[in-house]
Amino acid sequence: ATEKSAVFIIFGGSGDLAHRKLYPALYRLFKAGMLKDHFAVIGTARRPWSNEYFRQTVVTSLEDFDDDKRMMENFAMHFFYQSHDVNDSDHYIALKQLASKLDDRFETGRNRVYYMAIAPRFFGTVAAHIKSEGLKTDGYNRLVIEKPFGRDFKSACDLNDALSKAFTEKEIYRIDHYLGKKMVQEIPNLRRKNPTFDKILNNEYVSNVQVTLGESLGVEDRGGYYETAGALRDMVQNHIMQIIGVVAMDEPEVMEADAIHEIKDELFASLKDLTPEEVSKDFVRGQYDTDNMGKLNPYRKEDKVEEDSNVETFVAGKIEFKNDRWENVPFYVRSGKRMPKKSSRIDIVFNEKVADLGIRPNTIVTFFIEPEEGSSILINGIDYQSVKQDLIKYPEDPEIFNDAREAYESLIIDILAGDKANFTLWEELKSTWKYIDVIREQWDKESPKFPNYLSNTMGPDTADTLLEKDGNSWIWN
Ligand code: NAD
Repeated sequence: ATEKSAVFIIFGGSGDLAHRKLYPALYRLFKAGMLKDHFAVIGTARRPWSNEYFRQTVVTSLEDFDDDKRMMENFAMHFFYQSHDVNDSDHYIALKQLASKLDDRFETGRNRVYYMAIAPRFFGTVAAHIKSEGLKTDGYNRLVIEKPFGRDFKSACDLNDALSKAFTEKEIYRIDHYLGKKMVQEIPNLRRKNPTFDKILNNEYVSNVQVTLGESLGVEDRGGYYETAGALRDMVQNHIMQIIGVVAMDEPEVMEADAIHEIKDELFASLKDLTPEEVSKDFVRGQYDTDNMGKLNPYRKEDKVEEDSNVETFVAGKIEFKNDRWENVPFYVRSGKRMPKKSSRIDIVFNEKVADLGIRPNTIVTFFIEPEEGSSILINGIDYQSVKQDLIKYPEDPEIFNDAREAYESLIIDILAGDKANFTLWEELKSTWKYIDVIREQWDKESPKFPNYLSNTMGPDTADTLLEKDGNSWIWN
């Protein structure tokens, strides 16, 4: 791996995201030699930590690696802590001086990765100070943010306006970690390598597409956040839309960020708008109750959740496009908490007409995205490698199935390389928020009868009726 150089400034460097995802991902890059001598990480947060204490927390975050302690400590020597309050200008000046000192010490090329591992309400403030206190350098300056990117179209615009005052769109990297998942990244490659597969990905041959992002856990300790979000905002606007994008987009002429995003923009612009009547017909919501043994908490009894909360923990819906390729093909999507198991999958159901091409009618191709170790492709429920199938060939690259590269690792590599192919751009956000807002507005006018599904089930019955009305059914049921 070619070594990269940068100073990372992690806002929220004492937090959960930083310790659970970012430090382990950076450590993998360190082990791979992509981060070596010319990088430094500044963690910044409110607590008055010393460098030594911070480094200990970094090493502790690596406990899943069964590695030589010395290697971890060498890695941690690149970490520095600066206590910081997002509103205090003096702290940004201290941060700037520290970063500049580390530039000299580690010869980092004055490159900066500003990573916002803090609550989104601070994003605008931090960006404004980065600009006013002159933190940007003559190296590259890349800003990384994570969802939620607003809670509706209007607030997404406000957030974007605030960020745009300090960073250009080109400098902003919006993480959708599903786009960092190996199997999602493999879909475009697979389409390229299998002309037959790509040829039948359209309304002539596809009956319907199903995307499920199922979680077995409940809301756990994130009730406070979840009460402001719900499944529609938390999962559909971003992750589900982006996964659909990867399946449904036309093939770009070159697999390169600008070309990919141009095509994705077109796709999302062709989302078929919903009328309020269609929302009631095509989208259903649910909220979990206890399980059939009465052991688990219903959502309304979870910590930091209102006793009469109408926040949905499950959503299912039918999304359509009004373009030539996909007109009249339903994309059924579903995401819920407290489903029987954690599983993220895409099922593509083909129609009778594929028989003309010598493919078994009603073939189903399933991509397992998660859990990682289960990532695989099944054709009609059978591992594609064990069926003699011409539809999908993957001989050259079988290690995709046991490549354990974490989504965050892969996305940080992209950030260091300046490759935006796997990030969400503002145009895509605009289209998807506008689409989601119609559903949200309609839902907010009606009171749902919650709770309406037992924990450890596939959600409310209405999620099944949604497909049955069209003569279809969920492949995973
Ligand atoms: P957290 O509460 O664990 O960490 C928040 C961090 O912000 C802490 O380091 C805290 O010190 C810092 N902070 C808070 N107020 C501050 C202030 N006034 N000035 C300076 N620093 C301040 O939260 P988290 O779970 O790490 O999440 C951070 C962000 O990442 C959130 O926007 C969250 O939505 C997003 N996110 C988190 C995860 C995850 O897995 N934890 C996943 C996706 C997105």
